[in-house]
Amino acid sequence: MRNNPITPTIDFERDGIQHGFLKLPYSHDASAWGSIMIPITVAKNGDGPTALLSGGNHGDEYEGPIALYDLATQIKAEEITGRVIIIPAMNFPAFLSARRTSPIDGRNMNRVFPGNPEGSVTEKIADYFQRTLLPMADYVVDIHSGGKTLDFVPFCAVHVLENEQQQADCIAAMRAFNAPYSIKLLEVDAVGMYDTAAEEMGKIFISTELGGGGSAWASTVAIAKKGIANILKYAGILAGPTKVSKTINLNMPDSRCYVSSENSGLLEICVELGQSVTKGQTLAKVHNIERTGTPPTEYQSSLDGILITRHFPGLIAMGDIIAVIAVEV
Ligand code: CA
Repeated sequence: MRNNPITPTIDFERDGIQHGFLKLPYSHDASAWGSIMIPITVAKNGDGPTALLSGGNHGDEYEGPIALYDLATQIKAEEITGRVIIIPAMNFPAFLSARRTSPIDGRNMNRVFPGNPEGSVTEKIADYFQRTLLPMADYVVDIHSGGKTLDFVPFCAVHVLENEQQQADCIAAMRAFNAPYSIKLLEVDAVGMYDTAAEEMGKIFISTELGGGGSAWASTVAIAKKGIANILKYAGILAGPTKVSKTINLNMPDSRCYVSSENSGLLEICVELGQSVTKGQTLAKVHNIERTGTPPTEYQSSLDGILITRHFPGLIAMGDIIAVIAVEV
């Protein structure tokens, strides 16, 4: 396969702190011989494990970028053993535009893996993660939030994996991250995800959903910062004990967890995030905004559980996820 066109301006093997870029040539109207400059920090001190930390896989999610731009300014080479690779805004063009997907090619970073070195801009970035960055990593952490259209209770997640040792290692890493909620996630659509790429390579991989609505809160940023420090300690890269408090363990038994809308209209959410619900309880109503005098369509929970995700904007369209229910273990 052809080489990836990205050139790093840093040396992954050099000890110390380096701040630089992943430089991706991009010829366009405003810059004939221009490049996309994706910020990267590499901190390295001798031999040891490598942690690959990313945010901004989707460009409208902010806890990851805030925690990782912050970590890049704070991290000291002499305080670590091994290597930390920090990429605060993985889909940098999407991040610059405050959009989920790239404004250049319209692609969703988390649906294009393993990527393509001869493909579109997003596919080229994915290919660089797939063939250059992931192979260097022992621990892979990808910080997500809900973006503009979803809101979540703050959780750290693993997927159901076939390899028992890898599953146990990922669960231990999730426990170390120690978000207020910990979940074994059932994906709507796992094909092309960065998660799947890392897991298929046998990496210890965790992701998060730490809030949403296209912004960040003091509390959710604190969860991201604590979780990242905990993972670096758990990996033995940073010294000291992890800071651990209570987490609520959740599971998603099957597709009944997902409630999606078969109407468009005005969303009236009827329960709060984190609230317990029972089977048959009304989660939301969708009001017809075309006319007055028609009763709203009600959406009920198909199982007992906790509301972990909700549609964020006030209006909702056909096929949008209204709510996600998970079950406390
Ligand atoms: Ca996301």
